[in-house]
Amino acid sequence: MLADRLKTLAPSSTLAVQAKARALRAQGIDVISFGAGEPDFDTPERIKEAAVQAMRRGQTKYTEVAGIPELRLAVCQKLQRDNGLDYRPDEVLVSCGAKHALFNLAVALLDPGDEVLVPSPYWVSYPEQARLVGARPVAVETKEATGFDLDPAGLRAAVTPRTKVIVLNSPNNPTGAVFSPATLEAVARLAVERRLFVVSDECYEALTFEGRHVSIAAQAPEVKARTLVVNTCSKAYAMTGWRIGYAAGPRELIRAMTDVQSQVTSNPSSVAQWAAVEALSGPQADVASMAAEFDRRRRLIVAGLNALPGVACVMPKGAFYAFANVSGLFGRSMKGASAPLRGSVDVAAFLLEQARVAVVPGVDFGSDAHVRLSYATSDKLIREGLARMSAAIRELL
Ligand code: PMP
Ligand code: GLU
Repeated sequence: MLADRLKTLAPSSTLAVQAKARALRAQGIDVISFGAGEPDFDTPERIKEAAVQAMRRGQTKYTEVAGIPELRLAVCQKLQRDNGLDYRPDEVLVSCGAKHALFNLAVALLDPGDEVLVPSPYWVSYPEQARLVGARPVAVETKEATGFDLDPAGLRAAVTPRTKVIVLNSPNNPTGAVFSPATLEAVARLAVERRLFVVSDECYEALTFEGRHVSIAAQAPEVKARTLVVNTCSKAYAMTGWRIGYAAGPRELIRAMTDVQSQVTSNPSSVAQWAAVEALSGPQADVASMAAEFDRRRRLIVAGLNALPGVACVMPKGAFYAFANVSGLFGRSMKGASAPLRGSVDVAAFLLEQARVAVVPGVDFGSDAHVRLSYATSDKLIREGLARMSAAIRELL
């Protein structure tokens, strides 16, 4: 009955792990979740207040499909202020989260058979969105030994006549890599030379702890002309549930993406858009204080993970994920188990069952040697989760 495209569709495993942890908790089982890729902070009061005011003013109706002019202007000002990028409001589209902006792009840009270069490990939704529109995601490996830095030579070697798009995500989910300006320059050169389009997912920009976040679009006008910059209010402002993301790029493309959106969701929530105006334009001190807190937790969790026997974790430079190599546990077994641990799915299941700790299997991000832990949670839970993992691992035979 279902369409053929559903035969290969994997549901989002990041969301699935989160749902599983929530369901176990509802049954009274005490699970510590490192699954959710969302800040544990509440949305800052100034942003909530802007939404309340919008409701009171009656701004509860359909808006322009691409977003209210005030928000598109606020996005332009943000891109100028933080990234040195010049966009006009008709080069901006506001969507129901960055995920939606990316899907609008896939529909507007990709034909069946087009190839999309996706540096691996990758966020789970890039390959799935490409497949949903019949395009072919091509994983290009990055190496743990270099902190998962992007390898421009590897990207270049993967280009074929069907290659249309390169997906960049820095700071990276799941590895925490922050691509260096030199790397971005090399990718920009490749894109211009081979006439490729660049998607720059900058959702974790505000959470850059080492190095400096640079948008590839700021390299040169000819790079900007073939780049879509994607960002969101979800991470920087603890606004995951409000569903406001945005994209800036060439006018023609933004128009096409807006046309797609007009037939699928119309505008994103009017009230959330007004909250986003305040998020982007108001005082930014809350962003810095949340980022400082994540930076501290990053050191806590990575030190704890490296102290676990059979686990090794490189220090992430940004975002709020630790991508821990658990291949040292492969071949060991739980008491009474019929088979030893063989991959990241087994390790995640073992940690959930024996330690009551939820993590996301790395295989869904393109590496079966790893599991991903979000450290967007309290020190207390990080410490308790690490202690539980340590106790469970010590029981392995
Ligand atoms: N890009 C990356 C790399 C992400 O991790 C996420 C998930 N938070 C998104 C995009 C989408 O975020 P949202 O739809 O909440 O804006
Ligand atoms: N992006 C976050 C994550 O990777 C939230 C879930 C999702 O949208 O994938 O966990």
